[in-house]
Amino acid sequence: MKRSHHDVWSNCLQIIKDIIPAVSFKTWFEPITPLKLENNVLTIQVPSPFFYEYLEEQYIDILRKTLRREIGSEAKLEYNVVMENSTFSNGKPYTVKYPSRNKAELSNKPVQVPLEVTQSSIKNPFIIPGIKKVHFDPRLNPDYNFNNFIEGECNRLARSAGLAIGESPGKTAFNPLMVYGDPGLGKTHLAQAIGILVKEKHPDKVVLYVNANKFQTQFVESIRNNNRNDFLHFYQMIDLLILDDVQEFAGKEKTQDTFFHIFNHLHQSGKQLILTCDRPPVELQGMEQRLLSRFKWGLLADLQRPDYETRLAILKNKAYNDGIDLPSDVFEYLAENVSNNVRELEAVLISLYAQSTLNRKEITLELAREIIDKLVSSSKKEITIDYIQKVVCDYYKIPLELMQGKTRKREIVQARQVSMFFSKSLTKSSLANIGANIGGKDHATVLHACKTVNNLIETDKHFRNQISELEKKLKV
Ligand code: ADP
Ligand code: MG
Repeated sequence: MKRSHHDVWSNCLQIIKDIIPAVSFKTWFEPITPLKLENNVLTIQVPSPFFYEYLEEQYIDILRKTLRREIGSEAKLEYNVVMENSTFSNGKPYTVKYPSRNKAELSNKPVQVPLEVTQSSIKNPFIIPGIKKVHFDPRLNPDYNFNNFIEGECNRLARSAGLAIGESPGKTAFNPLMVYGDPGLGKTHLAQAIGILVKEKHPDKVVLYVNANKFQTQFVESIRNNNRNDFLHFYQMIDLLILDDVQEFAGKEKTQDTFFHIFNHLHQSGKQLILTCDRPPVELQGMEQRLLSRFKWGLLADLQRPDYETRLAILKNKAYNDGIDLPSDVFEYLAENVSNNVRELEAVLISLYAQSTLNRKEITLELAREIIDKLVSSSKKEITIDYIQKVVCDYYKIPLELMQGKTRKREIVQARQVSMFFSKSLTKSSLANIGANIGGKDHATVLHACKTVNNLIETDKHFRNQISELEKKLKV
């Protein structure tokens, strides 16, 4: 039998009423109206953004627990926030949707670090050698969770390995999990999401996220302060160690050496390691071989650039989390035009919000176009062989079909050679590929074209000017 949102909410209120002080209940819970219950998502309306912030800060735990009791473990909460004095609504209140951030408890239990206090290093006679209890923060950012990590072809393997690790850290074949890929593709987000999942499923596990640079600094300090052993012990009691941006270790032999020992200790004790890197391990320079070989013990999983559908889903999810609704043509335009990485996609979205509030303009396709023109510099637009041919044809005012055909007329041959020359210097295509795309020639023809153009650049001033004009046009 389907239960109504009214029933569910009034049951929740009964429970909450018993737990929190009457005044708080009156202030924060009575003004809430339940709106709907769909797919285990309960939507409640709150009177202002401040209300939403406050509930999320103070009462999210109680709300989560009672909702789960009422609806089951899949329960989710969503807010409709009434906005007042809005810039777009002529003063009439309107509502904005927010998902509950549903922050998990992300602290570590206190852990015991044996302190190896040798006679010579006792500076304070009241320090008793033995055990020290320390609290430390796992340094997980609750926003970098799996709910917010959109699945796509580009991250399928890494993501599912991460989910498996979340279930049983240290017990899967993915140890270490090495996630690699270009900047801005989600390595840090994914690695953190695994940490958060482990904390959710196994609250007793000690989790630590650390950036390789930070690790290096801590290590150097531990040497300076003469407590390298404490440093080692500290790292050896961790159940899940996430080391981000391991490429930063390049050339730092002592740090690599220390990490090697920590790695071995953790791995042998069945503890989980997650590493990220901005390139595949084989391309890492300045890294000890024995460490590189460890990186390959578990699973190497790469993150690729997201495809259009994934970019669209990421944008929609981000806007939803920010409580902002955009027209679908704007979403589509952004997803089509920002394709390099996810960080850039988010940056464009944020400046769209900013422009819209600063100038009190509604977010429209027009505004999105302006922002993309300003932000996404065309140097990032990939220069392709097709694009080069088009620009060269425009410049010499010859039709594209002629350039791609077999004609041996002098000016056409020259334009063709110029296209080949630029394709060689501005794209990563092979000679054979360039030839195949420009008039169906072989790689020797392309090589010859490049030589001819280079010779002419050296000997013919007029031609040299043409080439530099064309180069400017191509790089605009
Ligand atoms: P990296 O560490 O690879 O440089 P980050 O993890 O910092 O990249 O990701 C950059 C931004 O893109 C972050 O704000 C992150 O939340 C977002 N992001 C990356 N991949 C995804 C994804 N699949 N779904 C949602 N957001 C993503
Ligand atoms: Mg990162």
